Amino acid sequence: MNKNGGVILWILSFGLMIFLFSKIDVSNQNLTKEVTPTEFKEYLTNDNLSELLFDKSVVRGKVKKSQESLMEIYTLPVTSAEFEEIRKLAVEKKVKYRTTPDMSGLWAILGSLFQILLFAGLFLWIMGRQMGKANTFGQSKAKRFQSDKDRKTFADVAGCEEAKEEVREIVEFLKNPGEFSRLGARVPKGILLYGKPGTGKTLLAKAVAGEAGVPFLSANGSKFIEMFVGVGASRVRDLFATARKLAPCVIFIDEIDAVGQKRGSAIYGSHDEGGQTLNALLEELDGFEVNAGIIVMAATNRPDVLDDALVRPGRFDRQIQVPTPDVHGRELILKVHTKDKKIDPSVDLLHIAKDTTGMVGADLENVVNEATLIATKKKKPAVDQSDFSEAVDKVSMGPMRKSIKLTEKEKKTTAYHEAGHTLVAMLTPSADRVHKVTIIPRGQALGFTKQLPEDRHSITKKELEAMVAVCVGGRAAEELAMGEITTGHSDDFKKATDILKNMINKFGMSEEVGMAVFKDKTDFFGNSAGLDASQKTKELLENVLKSKLEETYQKVKELLTKNRNKLDAIANALLEKETLELKDLDLIMKSF
Ligand code: ADP
Ligand code: ZN
Repeated sequence: MNKNGGVILWILSFGLMIFLFSKIDVSNQNLTKEVTPTEFKEYLTNDNLSELLFDKSVVRGKVKKSQESLMEIYTLPVTSAEFEEIRKLAVEKKVKYRTTPDMSGLWAILGSLFQILLFAGLFLWIMGRQMGKANTFGQSKAKRFQSDKDRKTFADVAGCEEAKEEVREIVEFLKNPGEFSRLGARVPKGILLYGKPGTGKTLLAKAVAGEAGVPFLSANGSKFIEMFVGVGASRVRDLFATARKLAPCVIFIDEIDAVGQKRGSAIYGSHDEGGQTLNALLEELDGFEVNAGIIVMAATNRPDVLDDALVRPGRFDRQIQVPTPDVHGRELILKVHTKDKKIDPSVDLLHIAKDTTGMVGADLENVVNEATLIATKKKKPAVDQSDFSEAVDKVSMGPMRKSIKLTEKEKKTTAYHEAGHTLVAMLTPSADRVHKVTIIPRGQALGFTKQLPEDRHSITKKELEAMVAVCVGGRAAEELAMGEITTGHSDDFKKATDILKNMINKFGMSEEVGMAVFKDKTDFFGNSAGLDASQKTKELLENVLKSKLEETYQKVKELLTKNRNKLDAIANALLEKETLELKDLDLIMKSF
């Protein structure tokens, strides 16, 4: 809360107190009854009312008759003529009448005063909360970037050449909207960027604005949805109103799925906040000319959940994938982020790129940053390869935990566990190559075996089976060497189970189950509600899963038993050196 929060809260509670007092006073008339204007006039003509109160939109009357002395009737005058009629009648019948505000009594005055304060306080408080986050209540909270510091260009975006190519014509259009309309060219209004988080969607949108030299308005879909229905919609309108003033410009809406989910699905009805916000967005998208010089770019990592209305022609009709970068892309991204850092000339960015499969731009930026910090801590003149290597481990596994003290037995267990993963991986042809193995605790893990997966777009059954084998190899080795198993590595079995489940339920890779695909059901709220299959099928799937896992475990144990001497050698080397690289492992394997 901001600094004014305390004062406002005081006003609030004081106001509330007074408000309640004034209410107690007023609530003496405990019986009220609504009547039609005609009935009301009847009461008045029959001399049944002792006093009238003209409120802004209602007329109240106190009923005279003794048995109803506590009763009050009121009516909602339909027209101002009716209002006037009642007033005239009251004058005629000499019935006292007052008009609000009711000034009788100090409490009433204070009451209404503080009622105002109360609401003002409430309003200020909400505003304060909003301001704490960003802009003003009801406004779009859009952020604007125009300053040179924030300006991004295509040179800052790497590893997604196709996406860049696709948005190039948008830049041309923004530079000169008039020229495009002269020739009648049709430029898309809305562009949907989709890809995993951190792949550079925001960056790409910024670069489009930066290249064209136009303002960049950004908003977040999830921020549109607030506690009050209608606020999101008004924010959307405000955003587009600002854009119209600034055109040509780029509007960027991050996490569009927060507003753009399929209507009628799960929790989204058409009258709730999400539905209203989406409607406002659709109206705004339809509401400007194609050549108005406004380009709306939106980002999501789940294009499949978007409402069809949103991706119709004339709206977000151009969809561009911002892919997870491949090894070449990662090298380029690393180049961008190391550009203005002090890097030792011996550093091989391609090597780091190979070492970071699966990482996206944001991760790589993080790696470079960590490497710089590590080198700074060690007071090195420049960042070298070993700093990068440590940074990669840190970003992927979490920081080293030097403080954690393992007992000798725990150390030995961990060494055998990791040696188990490593040896299974080295002995299984379809497994990913082992790159490094260590028993230095990092993040949640007591040690880890790092494999280098290829950049691939699909994966074979053999490769998946190898992954499961490598997963269970750790525990199998523990059991062989120590005669017991520990809880230290329960993640391995969860991972193995997940892979097997996908193989059986989704990829049709089990003979027993066949090719059928079993999806997870979702309940009313969009949460997973188990498998969409009959009880019998579920049992079959479960049994197949269990027997596959058991079968793999036994095979792996056999494999390790046959190669027990190698297992011992790797485990001992780990206990001695803590970390082994591929070349060390190769040496050990060759010595047998
Ligand atoms: P997204 O919007 O897809 O979640 P961002 O654009 O917010 O990702 O990326 C966060 C940061 O990561 C960027 O500011 C940039 O520094 C870095 N980054 C991500 N992708 C790339 C890329 N393709 N090239 C260079 N840097 C990138
Ligand atoms: Zn393990």
